[in-house]
Amino acid sequence: MLDKVLIANRGEIALRILRACKELGIKTVAVHSKIDSDLLHVRLADESICIGPNPSAKSYLNIPAIISAAEVTDSSAIHPGYGFLAENADFAEQVENSGFAFIGPKAETIRLMGDKVSAIVAMRKAGVPTVPGSNGPVPSDENECKRIALEIGYPIIVKAAAGGGGRGMRVVHDEDSLLKSISITQSEAGSYFGDSTVYMEKFLTNPRHVEVQVLADGQGNAVHLYDRDCSLQRRHQKVLEEAPAPHLDPESRAACLQACVDACIEINYRGAGTFEFLYEDGRFYFIEMNTRVQVEHPVTEMVTGIDIVKEQLRIASGLTLSITQEDVVLKGHAVESRINAEDSKTFMPSPGKINYFHAPGGMGVRVDSHIYSGYSVPPTYDSMIGKIICHADDRTTALKRLSNALDETFIDGIKTNIELQKELATDPHFIEGGVNIHYLEKKLGL
Ligand code: ADP
Repeated sequence: MLDKVLIANRGEIALRILRACKELGIKTVAVHSKIDSDLLHVRLADESICIGPNPSAKSYLNIPAIISAAEVTDSSAIHPGYGFLAENADFAEQVENSGFAFIGPKAETIRLMGDKVSAIVAMRKAGVPTVPGSNGPVPSDENECKRIALEIGYPIIVKAAAGGGGRGMRVVHDEDSLLKSISITQSEAGSYFGDSTVYMEKFLTNPRHVEVQVLADGQGNAVHLYDRDCSLQRRHQKVLEEAPAPHLDPESRAACLQACVDACIEINYRGAGTFEFLYEDGRFYFIEMNTRVQVEHPVTEMVTGIDIVKEQLRIASGLTLSITQEDVVLKGHAVESRINAEDSKTFMPSPGKINYFHAPGGMGVRVDSHIYSGYSVPPTYDSMIGKIICHADDRTTALKRLSNALDETFIDGIKTNIELQKELATDPHFIEGGVNIHYLEKKLGL
């Protein structure tokens, strides 16, 4: 087992990783920016190092500073968490070239999946269902572009191969605006991502967001941990997630889960990963793979009893998977509310000092959060301050439990989105299950 892990992240996920390390008897190193010295995991870690000033570019994205911190603390591995450097192939490569284990896939896998065009090609080859599309970059020949778009059928969506965070995509409804949309998306992609490659896909009008969690050891073994539904989104940001995804077609679901496992074996995947799909009319369409632990991983942990972060640590230690597919048994239902320091109506960030925090509790209630009474939420980073996860034998009870837990939560000093979360947990359409990715924005009148 790894001896000492450097946690290259902050907030709730850094604390989550620290907890898993402690359970496995692994020593921990927290790295943090100047303003983050009061973070809970920094206080709890065996060692901590300030790696730079507050802007992420100078601290949490500062590769030389993080690798130096690993060297001076004699760490054996680096866990990137999510966001920041988690899907940066160059970082993974430098970590491994410096003699540390990178807790995630090999750099080449991150690179393959980071380019959506190569990811789609690899997934098609492995038998994962994809969205009908150009199956490669759009050609330079204008007539050929038009021909492909017509073959896919309007509406189509033009997407940046290097895209992320919901940026660099454009819906096209007819041939008149096709070429202009392609060239705008290309230049946006060039300036956002430094790569102007774009591709075309059928635009699905009414999909849900369903994703599949996998674990693979890079030694020929892979399992899926079933699915999650993350359709409640605002500006492509997930707001409330659940596992398993409700009301899926059982046959397509079984085939899709198996295809994800097969794909892991095919690309020799190592670590935890998520295959993201759009799901419409009983069919799955792959859109991208996330090669890291995700914010919403706890809902899967609650319904499978498998600690995903501990599995990541075991895999990075070179151990083979400790579980087989038969060991993965779904029990009950879990839902997660992301709690953000922001106004419930305007979504304006609301950093500042938390005078008092009372966490909810009771059977089946899990709180993953780094905040405490007296903690100041800095204005510099993501506004998520924690997650409330509720698990019960059935979906209705899990949602009721979530609604009660949100009622019990008390955060004084800053604004939060708890009111919005309460509305969602009691929303009749959401309670029915299976709302699409536009539901939340429509409900908000956006
Ligand atoms: P990113 O990496 O930027 O998150 P994704 O490929 O995951 O990009 O797409 C983000 C979101 O954009 C999806 O969750 C969905 O809401 C929308 N989207 C992407 N592709 C399609 C499509 N083919 N049809 C309809 N909506 C899409």
